[in-house]
Amino acid sequence: MYHQPVFKNRRTLLERAEKFISDCYFTDCNLRGRLYGESCPVESILSSLSHKRIPYSEAVKLNYEPYKVGDTFGPTWWTCWFKVVVRIPELWRGKQVHLQWESDGEAMVWKDQQPVQGLTKEGEKSSYILTECLTDSEPHSMTLYIELACNGLFGAGQGSMIAAPDPDRKYSVQKAELVVFNQDVRELLTDFEMLVDIVKLLGEGDQRGYQALFTANEMVNVCEPTNPSSFPVARSLALTFFSQRNGESQHTVHAMGHCHIDTAWLWPYEETIRKCARSWVTVIRLMEKNSHMVFTCSQAQQLEWVKSWYPGLFSQIRDYAKKGQFIPVGGTWVEMDGNLPSGESMVRQFLEGQRFFQKEFGNYCREFWLPDTFGYSAQLPQIMLGSGITRFLTQKLSWNLVNTFPHNTFYWEGLDGSQVLTHFPPGNSYEMKGKVEDLVNTVKNNKDKGRANHSAALFGFGDGGGGPTQLMLDRLNRVQDTDGLPRVQMSSPDRLFSLLEAESSLLCTWTGELFLELHNGTYTTQAQIKLGNRQCETLLHDVEVASSLALCENNAFQYPTTQLQNLWRLLLLNQFHDVIPGSCIEAVVEDALKYYQEIRTVGTKLLQKSCEALVATGQTGVRGQRTEVRVPAVLNTLPWERSEVLPLTDGTTNQPVLALVTVPSVGVVSVKEGSGTPPAVSVKVQVDGTVIMENGILRAVVNKDGCLASLNLVRSNREVIYDGCQGNQFVMFDDVPLYWDAWDIMDYHLQTRKPVVEVLHPIQVLSSGGLRGSVTFTLKISEKSTITQEVILDAMCPYIKFKTQVEWLEAHKMLKVEFPVRVRSPEATYEIQFGHLKRPTHRNTSWDWARFEVWGHKWADLSEHGFGVSLLNDCKYGYSVHRNVMTLSLLRAPKAPDANADMGTHQFTYAIMPHKGTFQEADVIQCAYNLNYPLRLMDHTPGSSTAVWSSFSVSTAAVILETIKKAEDREDALLLRLYESHGSSVSACLSTCLPVREAWHCDLLERVDPSCPVPITEVGIPLNFRPFQIVSLLLYLRQSEPF
Ligand SMILES: [Zn+2]
Repeated sequence: MYHQPVFKNRRTLLERAEKFISDCYFTDCNLRGRLYGESCPVESILSSLSHKRIPYSEAVKLNYEPYKVGDTFGPTWWTCWFKVVVRIPELWRGKQVHLQWESDGEAMVWKDQQPVQGLTKEGEKSSYILTECLTDSEPHSMTLYIELACNGLFGAGQGSMIAAPDPDRKYSVQKAELVVFNQDVRELLTDFEMLVDIVKLLGEGDQRGYQALFTANEMVNVCEPTNPSSFPVARSLALTFFSQRNGESQHTVHAMGHCHIDTAWLWPYEETIRKCARSWVTVIRLMEKNSHMVFTCSQAQQLEWVKSWYPGLFSQIRDYAKKGQFIPVGGTWVEMDGNLPSGESMVRQFLEGQRFFQKEFGNYCREFWLPDTFGYSAQLPQIMLGSGITRFLTQKLSWNLVNTFPHNTFYWEGLDGSQVLTHFPPGNSYEMKGKVEDLVNTVKNNKDKGRANHSAALFGFGDGGGGPTQLMLDRLNRVQDTDGLPRVQMSSPDRLFSLLEAESSLLCTWTGELFLELHNGTYTTQAQIKLGNRQCETLLHDVEVASSLALCENNAFQYPTTQLQNLWRLLLLNQFHDVIPGSCIEAVVEDALKYYQEIRTVGTKLLQKSCEALVATGQTGVRGQRTEVRVPAVLNTLPWERSEVLPLTDGTTNQPVLALVTVPSVGVVSVKEGSGTPPAVSVKVQVDGTVIMENGILRAVVNKDGCLASLNLVRSNREVIYDGCQGNQFVMFDDVPLYWDAWDIMDYHLQTRKPVVEVLHPIQVLSSGGLRGSVTFTLKISEKSTITQEVILDAMCPYIKFKTQVEWLEAHKMLKVEFPVRVRSPEATYEIQFGHLKRPTHRNTSWDWARFEVWGHKWADLSEHGFGVSLLNDCKYGYSVHRNVMTLSLLRAPKAPDANADMGTHQFTYAIMPHKGTFQEADVIQCAYNLNYPLRLMDHTPGSSTAVWSSFSVSTAAVILETIKKAEDREDALLLRLYESHGSSVSACLSTCLPVREAWHCDLLERVDPSCPVPITEVGIPLNFRPFQIVSLLLYLRQSEPF
């Protein structure tokens, strides 16, 4: 019948097939026009608005009023509840019937008091299946509730996705009707779509593409859209094509359903809870129909939310997890930022996450899953291995603006040499659609061809999109093994990584950080969030140390396990990869700051309680060198002795006074007045108005505008400030990125540098010497913004502190402070989690200059042989060191997605510390800790006694005792975490006066290594460290007894 040969005209045949399935052309006669059959309106719709997100049980009690399709409601962030009554016509028996629901906003269908499916237009989910095949016996009438959130998939950006949300947007339902759905048409449409895509993507150079073209053309010939009995012939032609198989060598794509849900971003945390429920209930519906479907789901916090808010759904999730279809992955509490959280925070991400997964799903995750964050710390491989994870999946480096990352499957080697098998899905997306394009790109982009023959493809709409669709599954099913395309199998992370491990001999290794050459503004944006994170990390550290000591010293003390876990979880939540980076809307910032405030309030109370318990230990037993003393006492939570100038309140006059205190390592000391005469600080005002401050270690000359004209390291007589330059120089830049406003600082901003020179108040002396010398001044940045600073030099202190307050009301500007120094080195050093790394100070290659703005934690250092300068800070993360200029990024002023980002008052402190020798020898690391962890004053408790004692000390400065906490699940043990901070192999001895019975090595999940008992000798616990090694110890305590 079809013996006419086709003309050699690829274009007409291809377009013919395209038009046959087009949803805008020829729908009166083409196949697409037959997808839906008869339709009828719903019986009734009522609606009720709620300005809060309320549970179903409250929603059904609302007052409902009639709603007409097309009517608008809102505003943004409200919820409209609909009560929908449907009646399916008798005549539709034998048909598949859908409720078609098209609306702005993200919806959830509730039936019989349970959430049953998400409806999101942007996620191609606008049908709820009422019946697969209508029978006479099933109910034709039912009442559904539809909960409609007044926000889109990506919030409510005004004009563009990342613009600040429009608070007054109106929403509407555009369609609510019952339709007959023709499944046979859908199947055939999918066949056509895949064939057409194969033609297009394989291109004219590939003979398989022509076979697809002729198959599709012949299918159009045989298919009569109005006559379903013609469909099987067409379908069998497609099947013949799809089942022509590959050779054995073909690449395998491991398809996994996924739904990347940002824990907060362009919508608040609270909406995410509903996004999770909408997405996952939709996934469960798909799994019911597709027993082979696999879905990977990360972020313990989101699962915990669903467990609390949707317990029925959570138990279904658990059932499918048991079947191996719903696969928890990632191992962390949230998908956190990979740069800014401290080392201990990162450990806690895994500790809280893995313990949750183990408790709820019976397994620890074996893969770290972080597809979407803005760079990855070089310490992550060691932290992963310590948390039972050997594999890592991400793809964000495909966003690099300058250099193309050279690998997709490789070993990533961290700072200490730990290696994890790493896979970047070559399709460069975590939101694929199961289309031919995704498969072809996965093979084409794979940079490890010949080395790795397996790749992941994560498919499903993210965020509010509700994950995979049946159509995506159908697409992938058709081409499981089709000649010309890679093989596709529904797979799991474990299966993929096991196969990659089995053929890993040719894989390359990437050593050091995975630096994202984009989103470098996120080290600085939303300064209050950065401050909250740093301060709360510090506070929780101190609460844990003080509570652990109180636990050992005071029988009556209850360790605040639950409260601490709650506070940690809040802190970890705010480390999500759009919150701590500052790339979220204003409502999220408000929530985040509220959580930090909660941590501060509760944490401060807990610290106070534990300190009281510690001071009150005299009541339960006194040992060692304890003496009866009058308070106040001071607590040092850091593992070295500190001598610092501390503001106290005079007991008789109630006036603030300064005292120099020396507090032993992880210990307490009482403050004795007038003990010893420290070398004093002198402050001299010169005739030209400049001020010279000197403390025997440093001599600084401060200009009238607050700049450092000179800084001298007295004993070596080394000048720090570069010839003809000034230190502490504030500079402003135009800060207009290409698109990602809150995220990006572009290279060209460096050309817009303008020093801040206008003096509002020239320097005046604030503290005239003795224990403290300080001067203050105010600069004008613009008509609206000012900087007020106190430059502080304390007795015995090796650094100058710059206590800064900025009134900041700018738009698309950036403020930095510069220190041009007399140091020449091709590399600068930056503190990262549990260690430090070097980055170039030159711009030789594209890899070097792409790092014109980098992140670091508490300090950065520029050293040449024998001398260097360190820049310390108490809440900043953005640095740049170019040639000999050390720069700290202070504030930005982006306008999207938060139109008010960073506007207002900011307080922060940074410090400059010149030093002899290396930064290791000069104790720069310790000084940066000191700047961040204030000595804690302990309140006087009348009638009690306190002690002058040190609980722990470490024999070498290279090893830092970072964490002291109660062990998880054990009442009689402490967990200690130490790390090697110099980058050296060392032996150390940990001494303690606490009653330690046994000591064991354990991993970061606190699982004891039975092969690794730790000896306890007369002098303490001997330990060996590799460079940057993290060591966790469990110390079992003797049951408390009088000493
Ligand atoms: Zn994300």
